[in-house]
Amino acid sequence: MSGPLGRRFDVVVVGAGVLGCAIAAELAQTALSVCVLEAAPDVAEGASKANAGITSSFYAPPPSIECELIGESNDGWEELCGRLNVPYRRIGALTVAFDDDGVRGLDELETQVRAAGVKVERVTGEQARRHEPLLTDECIDALYYPDEGIIDPVRLTWAYAELAALNGAELRFRAPVLDVARDGDGRLSAVVTPEDRIACRYVVNAAGIGSGALSALAGGEEIRMWPRKGQYWILDRDFGQTLSRIVLPVPTPTTRGIEVAPTTNGSVLLGPDAEEGGDAEDRSTSAGNLRKIFAETQRLVPTVSLDRAIKTYAGSRPAADEPVRLRFDARVDNLIHAGNRSTGVSTSPAFGRRVKALLADRGENTAARPDRVTSLPPVPRVLLEADPVTVLDRRPGDAMVVCVCEQVTAAEITAAVTSAVPARSIEGVRKRCRATGGRCQGSICMAGVILLTANAHGIDPGQVGMGPGGGSVGCG
Ligand SMILES: Cc1cc2nc3c(=O)[nH]c(=O)nc-3n(C[C@H](O)[C@H](O)[C@H](O)COP(=O)(O)OP(=O)(O)OC[C@H]3O[C@@H](n4cnc5c(N)ncnc54)[C@H](O)[C@@H]3O)c2cc1C
Repeated sequence: MSGPLGRRFDVVVVGAGVLGCAIAAELAQTALSVCVLEAAPDVAEGASKANAGITSSFYAPPPSIECELIGESNDGWEELCGRLNVPYRRIGALTVAFDDDGVRGLDELETQVRAAGVKVERVTGEQARRHEPLLTDECIDALYYPDEGIIDPVRLTWAYAELAALNGAELRFRAPVLDVARDGDGRLSAVVTPEDRIACRYVVNAAGIGSGALSALAGGEEIRMWPRKGQYWILDRDFGQTLSRIVLPVPTPTTRGIEVAPTTNGSVLLGPDAEEGGDAEDRSTSAGNLRKIFAETQRLVPTVSLDRAIKTYAGSRPAADEPVRLRFDARVDNLIHAGNRSTGVSTSPAFGRRVKALLADRGENTAARPDRVTSLPPVPRVLLEADPVTVLDRRPGDAMVVCVCEQVTAAEITAAVTSAVPARSIEGVRKRCRATGGRCQGSICMAGVILLTANAHGIDPGQVGMGPGGGSVGCG
């Protein structure tokens, strides 16, 4: 192990995805000092930027930790998203059956959902079409889940990171953990990045697909991990505005299925499929998979049309033999595993609270600090305002719309590039406020975004790059 001895922290969280940031946000509100180390240059670079943004009310049957964590998170979304300015809507979902096999699948699913204590209604095809008029006539039976919701998952990740930073957590990017140090009892005493050696009392392994490698590095349990890739179409909001619910088929034992899902910014996602193995960094889409996805979703909602497609993307779920991990390591006493393959967004609030509880069980003082920050300063978002003109009149400085497709003002972009965890690239701006993410994909507004970013950071416009994903952010 090498490197200078940097600051000492109570807790080092490895990974600035939705789980690492949620955990840091929760812990930073206590007396514990927190540092987040992220290999990538920004938050939400792994699975957290390439998912569907669905806040599931049901995924795995009880008894399971996934079922518990979803239950502990689901009721609180309105309150949390209100405090953190994260777009969220509880729109409901329909799981639909086309034939007798599907109906039997719904019977089994209904039993599981009811056992989990999740709100659900069994509805006829006709009733289901009243919930979602675009639903296919082929649907003969369905389950309606009123508590299923949609969220902006990237904005959520950033908001958790902001809250953590405003409460004193240190977030370091381009800081991959490459090594660790142990004390005489085999406990972790420090982690090592290329720049620094950071002493700590606990390490939280929220490294997504990198969790197995990190555990091995720390001398912890063997965690076998592999990517489960999923691909999507994004359809423009002129179609999205006509769809009210998430529509999905009867799930299989391994996946929830390829679905039609509105996003909080008005677009619609078709996908994802599930392909095991391969390269975790591979974010390419393929014509064959996309054709299949389109055909399957067209069966659910016949009016989906590729005339409305604005983009495709892919992301990999961090799959593992134990898909949800939230516990201390069996070998290394002060290493906590925090990982989730398929419902990391939906369970993130509970992950934060449960990690805090694990530390409280070890005798740590996890009481909330009286001076903690619990909400983020609101930034008016013209697109989401019922009466945008009034907002612009009230705040004339906001009136310059830079991104026409997503109606993002200069004020929103400035907030994104000057926040506690600021955007430094075009993709970073897109993640935080959607500018460049609409139907023109930045053709009109990119110059404005670059100038505002360069001004905020005092750099030359030529130094503002696309970002690690080449400007690609999923989730519509
Ligand atoms: C196609 C798809 C659809 C999905 N749909 C949904 C959905 O609708 N709803 C839902 O709830 N969930 C969904 N998920 C699952 C959800 O995206 C994941 O559960 C969640 O993003 C996992 O978050 P994470 O923070 O654990 O991992 P990640 O977001 O992958 O973050 C891990 C981070 O750790 C960093 N890292 C790794 N190793 C190191 C190291 N050694 N040092 C420093 N940093 C390191 C990585 O760079 C990465 O940024 C979906 C996932 C996919 C791929």
